[in-house]
Amino acid sequence: MNRTVIILTIMECPKQVKIEVLEKDEMNLRVVIREAEVPLINALRRIALAEVPSMAIDEVVMIENSSILQDEIIAHRLGLTPMKTDLDTYNLPEDCECHSEFGCSLCRVTLTLDAEAKEGTRTVYSGEIVSENTNIVPVSDKVPIIKLAKGQKLKLEAYARLGKGKNHAKWQPVCMCVYKYYPQIEVPIKDCGDCEKCVAICPKKVLAMKENKVEIRDLLACNLCMDCVDACPKEPKAIKVDWEKNAFIMSIESSGALPPERVLQQATKILDKQLEDFQEQLKVEE
Ligand code: SF4
Ligand code: SF4
Ligand SMILES: [Zn+2]
Repeated sequence: MNRTVIILTIMECPKQVKIEVLEKDEMNLRVVIREAEVPLINALRRIALAEVPSMAIDEVVMIENSSILQDEIIAHRLGLTPMKTDLDTYNLPEDCECHSEFGCSLCRVTLTLDAEAKEGTRTVYSGEIVSENTNIVPVSDKVPIIKLAKGQKLKLEAYARLGKGKNHAKWQPVCMCVYKYYPQIEVPIKDCGDCEKCVAICPKKVLAMKENKVEIRDLLACNLCMDCVDACPKEPKAIKVDWEKNAFIMSIESSGALPPERVLQQATKILDKQLEDFQEQLKVEE
């Protein structure tokens, strides 16, 4: 198969792909994707982890630090504090028209922290960080930044920028992005000896026994470990576990930087763009 054929195969996939949302909230998305191939699903997974941009603190100017932690450690903690992201307003620094190392209002957000322990020892939380843009703030107010003893101070200015997970994990918009095949389980009654061994061994409690029959209680929880098949004393095995070759369950847990569905949408846009660029390059090579 030549390279052009591979590209066409992948590019045609989205026309047929069917997506069904199983669960969705602010942080989590679980979908069933049908009529898809592993290369497409895995590309989306990798792009979600490494290419979809998110905001993170990238530079810290320490004005006063009389705490026991070094400046670098505090800067590292701030960098790893998940920040809400606005992809429609801000540019990646490398794509911004300002072409400035320091950045401009379209590629940089300034944040400040001015904390002091006046009464006694206290913890400084992410909620005390003040941002020039109220949409670009820490995802949670409850991330501990540092503990200050009485009389200690921490005053700093920080700059958040868009970046990609492939350059630093702090820019990953997801805590988790995984997929698995859609499971298929069959237990024909005529073959089953009713011993319950498969039910007892299943780590995901997929199976249950009802009126001397093995029932599938939670099919989508199955992780295809095959423990139930191994435990079945019958030969050939009475329980059959398989998976659909073109159906996947994809789970995304956002860091809170972006809604999980936006991460997936952005990943598909980036994949489209990468394939277009690749196709252009091939044309030049021909
Ligand atoms: S394959 Fe594993 S998870 Fe799935 S039903 Fe069997 S034991 Fe449970
Ligand atoms: S282990 Fe095999 S024989 Fe025993 S209940 Fe399960 S499927 Fe039936
Ligand atoms: Zn700029």
